[in-house]
Amino acid sequence: MTTKPILAVGSIALDTIETPQGQRQEILGGSATFFSIASSLFAPVRLVGVVGSDYPEEGWRLFRERGIDVSDVQQVAGSTFRWGGRYSRDLSERETLFTHLGVFENFQPLVSNGNRRTGIIYLGNIQPSLQLAVCEHMTAARRIISDTMNLWIDMNREELEAVLGKTHIFLINDEEASQLTGHDDLEAAAHWLLRAGPSTVVIKRGHKGAFLATDGTHKHIPVYPHSRLVDPTGAGDSFAGGFIGHIANHDESHIEEAVIRGAATASFTVEDFGLEGLLRATPEGVEHRMENIRDLMD
Ligand code: AMP
Repeated sequence: MTTKPILAVGSIALDTIETPQGQRQEILGGSATFFSIASSLFAPVRLVGVVGSDYPEEGWRLFRERGIDVSDVQQVAGSTFRWGGRYSRDLSERETLFTHLGVFENFQPLVSNGNRRTGIIYLGNIQPSLQLAVCEHMTAARRIISDTMNLWIDMNREELEAVLGKTHIFLINDEEASQLTGHDDLEAAAHWLLRAGPSTVVIKRGHKGAFLATDGTHKHIPVYPHSRLVDPTGAGDSFAGGFIGHIANHDESHIEEAVIRGAATASFTVEDFGLEGLLRATPEGVEHRMENIRDLMD
């Protein structure tokens, strides 16, 4: 099978992060950044997003080095989106310290003619109305995979449900799944989500792994067990990058392997601050960690 390209939208950010292992100020981050760097290991990626006039050259260089198509990333006057987060002692909880939308406030996603026919679309964490705006541009969408976060569940539930209605595969973490569905039980939450639109749901559970549900089947997939946790920021988007990178190379029947690839890819991200861990990942390194995860499943 030939590798299919992926079109992705999400935030391109400068993150300020505090974890028990240390702090970093204004480092490259954002859902679209983690996603595109991760998925570019496996497939061609076309990025849709916005940055401000202060966006560092280092960010452009990284995208270019990885062959990521940035022709639909707009650079406009103003400040790049900034996000600050602090993690609890065991890294299991995260508090948002600030969210400065900057150029996101007036962002109108545009997809160039050449990119509109992309069949695989990742709607990364971003206002649901912007996720919907990207869908409007797409003329040959065969697989729409989306993600979200607590902020949008609180503030934009209606638009989020409209995104769900268009979504084939929905990725969400366990806390957000229970917030959105009103169910703490994984199976009940997945059932609710499957009725809202998607035919496949992946509930990400941090160090507990991932729960994959399709109509009538479900499965738990463990995490790579040997990572030393330093900074979990971007783990969800890196998971999505590996997961969708797999889908871009295989047919439908490989969904469980896609989850394993997602978990293996994310394991690199959590091992260092920001993008540093993920940038050390190689396709071979990911394959190797996939084997370790499969061993746990036998
Ligand atoms: P994750 O850890 O996978 O949930 O993603 C973390 C990334 O999400 C960080 O790099 C942030 O820049 C980005 N982020 C945080 N809050 C928002 C938001 N409200 N909208 C878009 N991206 C966000």
